[in-house]
Amino acid sequence: MKGARKLYVKSFGCQMNVYDSQRMADTLAPEGYVETATAEDADLIVLNTCHIREKAAEKVYSELGRLRRLKEAAAADGRSLLVAVAGCVAQAEGDEIVRRAPAVDLVVGSQNYHRLPDLVAHAARGGRVVDTDFALDDKFDHLAAPSRAATRARGVTAFVTVQEGCDKFCAFCVVPYTRGAESSRPAEKIVTEVERLADAGVREVTLIGQNVNAYHGVGANGRPWRLARLLERLAGMPGIERLRYTTSHPLDMDDDLVAAHRDLPALMPQLHLPVQSGSDRVLAAMNRRHSRADYLDVVARLREARPDLALTSDFIVGFPGETENDFAATLTLVEEVGYAGAFSFKYSPRPGTPGADMSRQLQEAEKSDRLRRLQRVIDQEQAKFSRACVGRTLSVLFERPGRHRGQIVGRSPYLQPVQIQAPPSLIGEIADVTITEVASNSLFGALASPLSSPCKGEVGERGEPGGGLTPPRTAVGGSTLPLPGREKIAGAGA
Ligand code: SAM
Ligand code: SF4
Repeated sequence: MKGARKLYVKSFGCQMNVYDSQRMADTLAPEGYVETATAEDADLIVLNTCHIREKAAEKVYSELGRLRRLKEAAAADGRSLLVAVAGCVAQAEGDEIVRRAPAVDLVVGSQNYHRLPDLVAHAARGGRVVDTDFALDDKFDHLAAPSRAATRARGVTAFVTVQEGCDKFCAFCVVPYTRGAESSRPAEKIVTEVERLADAGVREVTLIGQNVNAYHGVGANGRPWRLARLLERLAGMPGIERLRYTTSHPLDMDDDLVAAHRDLPALMPQLHLPVQSGSDRVLAAMNRRHSRADYLDVVARLREARPDLALTSDFIVGFPGETENDFAATLTLVEEVGYAGAFSFKYSPRPGTPGADMSRQLQEAEKSDRLRRLQRVIDQEQAKFSRACVGRTLSVLFERPGRHRGQIVGRSPYLQPVQIQAPPSLIGEIADVTITEVASNSLFGALASPLSSPCKGEVGERGEPGGGLTPPRTAVGGSTLPLPGREKIAGAGA
């Protein structure tokens, strides 16, 4: 390893960016870059950006303004600070970033992270670089794997990207343009990566992709494997107690994947299944390629397979042409499905997408009003689930110390944060917790059995991931990662 330099990576947006950020840090580690928690003492700062809504992209430019001042201060101290922009804003805006933000030394698109060591070396010699081609070679073949120490430091849960890009072309969405066409990693490479994680102590893996259930990687037998087959392979791996996947499209929820929710105890009873709208007219205008009835049919099949499944979703309000009746259909859908939580956004027109050119764009005030009304209904549904948890016993994987003295925090099978008073030695273990109280996004409880046998989640017990939970009509508080958030009413998009 070369002489140590400090690397600060800031991730915006989705969990795919969190995963990419870790892999960028792993790839720069052999170049001597050690991660630091603050931008102020860094030698290299990477902003891993999100382009999904206008506000997300604008945040990057305001952050770059701050970094310009930091760079000037470093220069005044005789230090050199390199600033890189990666991710979807980099991919979409390329040269424009260098033009608008003089502090930026290099721009790297989401398919080219394996070239970072060369790009950084070039920038360090004074050249500004923009590399946003869609690389022909698979970046995953070249990105460094994390060291065992790095994996341990990241905790007992991990994301693994299995699929990238999207061919669906929803009329509001930039992903097919910024992340490119759908592509899946070969199954064996994913298996090897998960084996390494398990070996370093990871107990829960979330498979991620922009459209993860469209997964169709080459399997061990040379034939394509769908996501259900991959989950089945990983479910038998020693050390891996829990599996999740996100984010899914309703059209790709095939019978095998539905059956996996019934047949694989390690597959947690929680699913993020975005619907966007409850109105058939709006779904058609969005080019979602499914109706409200199609979606409800998928939900019914899933609940038949796994009655205690916690469902969460994404909603967009104020898509061009959305009437009050269309919006009312979204409100009734939320109640009909009985979601455990949901993300909700005001429509944000994105340049280059069909939605941006549609007539009948809605006023901001109207979007804000609908968002407020939608969030009220989502909150009611979520509160119902949380209240239904009290008195139940859930198996919890403990992940980290809590904010208060003597507290540790874990996740229920439904992905709810659960806080208890217990020693930190329980971190990394799965134990039964009896829920005593709920707050807006967290559950509170106490260990159901004495500390001598804290470890739940052995094969037999995981057959009931709810740990004796009576299957509710819809289950409790689960979500994508992190828990469903909400767009601020005043904002144009989170
Ligand atoms: N692939 C997933 C799917 O099929 O729904 C989600 C991808 S996207 C990264 C996450 C969410 O952002 C979407 O589900 C949608 O609700 C929201 N979103 C995407 N484009 C948006 C836009 N232009 N305005 C507002 N919200 C948007
Ligand atoms: Fe975007 Fe998801 Fe639609 Fe693909 S399926 S275009 S990622 S919203």
